[in-house]
Amino acid sequence: CGVFGVFAPGEPVANLAYFGLFALQHRGQESAGIATFEEGDVIHLHKDMGLVSQVFNETKLKDLPGYLAIGHTRYSTTGSSRVVNAQPALAKSRLGTLALAHNGNLVNTSELRAELAETNHDFITTTDSEAIALAIAEEVNRGNDWVKGAINAFKRCQGAFSLAIGTPDGMIGTRDPNGVRPLVLGTLAQESHDQPLRYVLASETCGLDIIGADYVRDVQPGELVWITENGIESIMWAEQPVRKLCIFEMIYFARPDSVMHDETLYSYRLRIGRQLATESNVDADIVIAVPDSGVPAAIGFSQTSGIPYAEGLIKNRYVGRTFIQPTQGMREAGIRMKLNPLKDVLAGKRVIIVDDSIVRGTTSRKIVRTLRDAGAIEVHMRISSPPVTHPCFYGIDTDSQDHLIAATKSIEEIAKQIEVDSLQYLSWEGMLTATRENPEEFCSACFTGDYPIAIPETIKRSKLM
Ligand code: 5GP
Ligand code: SF4
Ligand code: MG
Repeated sequence: CGVFGVFAPGEPVANLAYFGLFALQHRGQESAGIATFEEGDVIHLHKDMGLVSQVFNETKLKDLPGYLAIGHTRYSTTGSSRVVNAQPALAKSRLGTLALAHNGNLVNTSELRAELAETNHDFITTTDSEAIALAIAEEVNRGNDWVKGAINAFKRCQGAFSLAIGTPDGMIGTRDPNGVRPLVLGTLAQESHDQPLRYVLASETCGLDIIGADYVRDVQPGELVWITENGIESIMWAEQPVRKLCIFEMIYFARPDSVMHDETLYSYRLRIGRQLATESNVDADIVIAVPDSGVPAAIGFSQTSGIPYAEGLIKNRYVGRTFIQPTQGMREAGIRMKLNPLKDVLAGKRVIIVDDSIVRGTTSRKIVRTLRDAGAIEVHMRISSPPVTHPCFYGIDTDSQDHLIAATKSIEEIAKQIEVDSLQYLSWEGMLTATRENPEEFCSACFTGDYPIAIPETIKRSKLM
């Protein structure tokens, strides 16, 4: 999911939230929502199924007055794909209503819900995100202020959560103690000396760029930032924060123009392409990518191998990301709509095709057939991540383990099933070394099964074979 927050006293901010969400559309396409806060404890909310541009128009944005906005784009990991589960989630407390946008996935939702059910008899939705909102309200109702109430609630949550929270008194941003999902802090430039600083929270820096906000820094794992008219306050609430950023954010999920670790992810993805060529080059005539996600790695592969990069597949950009649509049937229909081969480029060629990942293997098989139909004489697939063998419990919808092709099949068997002449994946070491960061600071559990946040047995059983 994508989360966004903007705090700008005295100014309307719904349009800024709209553009921020527009830039975070790739993080979720099922539903979108914005909640705004007006002086005098008035809150407005609009959310619906669909893309940001389908959910909002000028009239709808005009109906969202206020100086603080919280926005969300969703793809479901817990809770079904229905409008009641769209975010932001609201919860009422003695200090007023809060609006919460969540990216990630809790692993103790059922325990938390059971605790909350004792005091809140009517759950509206089925999501872990609403449970967090209710937990904060419950803690506030016990006599805590917003910050203390939020911290108490966060300590009851296990799993991945990057949050933007609006309250009548200020805005909160936080990340779980492992910082599995990203969240960045930015500011809008002051237009005059006496204008207070206006703060922005966004899942990725591309959400700052689009509204002209300057990147200040990442919200740290286990940190809470409290943004009010008096400025920003930072509180480290986690006792032992341990960095475990999702490596899949780096490889695939986040936009290539977003900055992580002081460089755009485009640069990281070029490097893993180069590394992939070092590990698994093969004699061929052209290197092509599965657009768009495979492009930077394919260019890197071409640079290191010396084999020319070409465009072999043209993508219809108006079809959403195939993987994110909830049903397999929809996914398959989506894939057929999406890619068209360039026969003039492919005919008679030995082709290396680079993609970022193979999850279920359904996309890959179709693509290979498409290339052969267009006249490719050899198809060598190279993947800029290791085999996905384990499901994600922290907010990326990689499905249950039995649907992951690499969980049950060897690389040779996968090659046979997707009908390629050869198949190679990037090594796990290569993927982590290319980050140029401490490899310990990443979650890579979907490649290893080594889950950094303990997963309760019942949940494990639901997704593991
Ligand atoms: P599959 O092998 O499952 O048929 O498809 C893999 C393709 O799905 C890759 O091209 C990858 O870019 C794309 N994809 C879209 N969303 C996701 C996601 O959330 N995780 C992964 N691993 N791949 C995704
Ligand atoms: Fe990311 Fe994989 Fe870890 Fe999930 S299991 S957080 S997708 S690295
Ligand atoms: Mg892709």
